[in-house]
Amino acid sequence: MGSFVSTQTEEGWKSDARHAMEAGRFCVICGGPFDIEGNVYTNDPKDPRFQWLYDLRLLGDVRDANNHMIASAGLIATNQSEIPDIFLSEPALFNETASGYFRVAGQTQGEIWFEALSYGTGYGTLFPLHAACITTSCRAIEHHQSRRRNGKRNHALAILSRLLNTRFAKRNSHADDSCEVNDLFSLCSYSPVYGPRSVLAMTRLEWWGGEYDRFYTDPSDESGTALFVQDVLRASPLDTLDCSYPLRVTRQPERLERLPTELLDEICLYLPVQSVIALHRTSKALTIRIPLDTAFWRNSLRDGSLHPHIWDLDTKWIEHQLPQSDVLSLDPAASWDWKSVAKLLAKKRFPVSGRDSRLVDVPNAFWNRCRIWATIEEALQEQDAAKSSMSQ
Ligand SMILES: [Zn+2]
Repeated sequence: MGSFVSTQTEEGWKSDARHAMEAGRFCVICGGPFDIEGNVYTNDPKDPRFQWLYDLRLLGDVRDANNHMIASAGLIATNQSEIPDIFLSEPALFNETASGYFRVAGQTQGEIWFEALSYGTGYGTLFPLHAACITTSCRAIEHHQSRRRNGKRNHALAILSRLLNTRFAKRNSHADDSCEVNDLFSLCSYSPVYGPRSVLAMTRLEWWGGEYDRFYTDPSDESGTALFVQDVLRASPLDTLDCSYPLRVTRQPERLERLPTELLDEICLYLPVQSVIALHRTSKALTIRIPLDTAFWRNSLRDGSLHPHIWDLDTKWIEHQLPQSDVLSLDPAASWDWKSVAKLLAKKRFPVSGRDSRLVDVPNAFWNRCRIWATIEEALQEQDAAKSSMSQ
């Protein structure tokens, strides 16, 4: 990943997204606002594709939620979290031109008003977040936990709340620029390789050029992913002239290697995909006995076991309209290089230029999902590395 540098505002110019951030009325995960009225000049804020930006929740500790309640008139807010001490509000309302507070319906009637992203000594804060960003983040957290060996599992929502609060407290104690205390994931930075990390880092020219569009696309929208993967696959025919040297076993099989193929196949069905790959690499005998053929890569992509940020990929539909091998008995996967597609789709950050030509038309929703996933994943890795260096 390239180095990130903070953007400087140009001659005092700031986008409305940046103003929203400085007022604490933005989503700290994606950098997007909750109201784009007057923000995106060439688009209609009522356009259905922008409505995910208006679907928000408040997340934090129960104690912090109480501390951030501005007006309740005796009403009680419904907590949708089933985790002790964690507060997740029902859908909240926000209007940039109104009070500036977040409004949530009470359990009986009326509204409860909350402020957010403000700091009280000794306490955490309450985070307004897009529902789609919470869902994407929790999926990334669950995947991160699943890869830990002997790690104790915790609720993804609780981990997300703690991650945000830890970074918020750190930024508040160290940030030099008071305007950027809310920037928990360097969303105001600009990479020479990957471009702006969020709308908050966009220049005026980029803004006028409509480059905010991909940042403002619903990351949970999966409608374009299958078509995109189909295009990538179409550009990845299998090399039928593969001249790689066939492997030969030079010693007698031992232990697992001696199991019947049917039994090995059955074992692999119950193993995580990373374990199957590891087993395949254990010895020449197992490399031959557990072939990671193109059907293996396709099936691993289909059920999300290989790349959890791609879920429910309809590989049957993807293969259906593509030209197939002349040999009818062959699996359709035999005609296409699913392995190369799987390798390409492992990327979650896409360079602005010089990228693989198959990635030129990445759909905006998929691009935004990858960006949000990578933001949380990188933060978790950073947190693990910090814990590991402290324990040494
Ligand atoms: Zn968001």
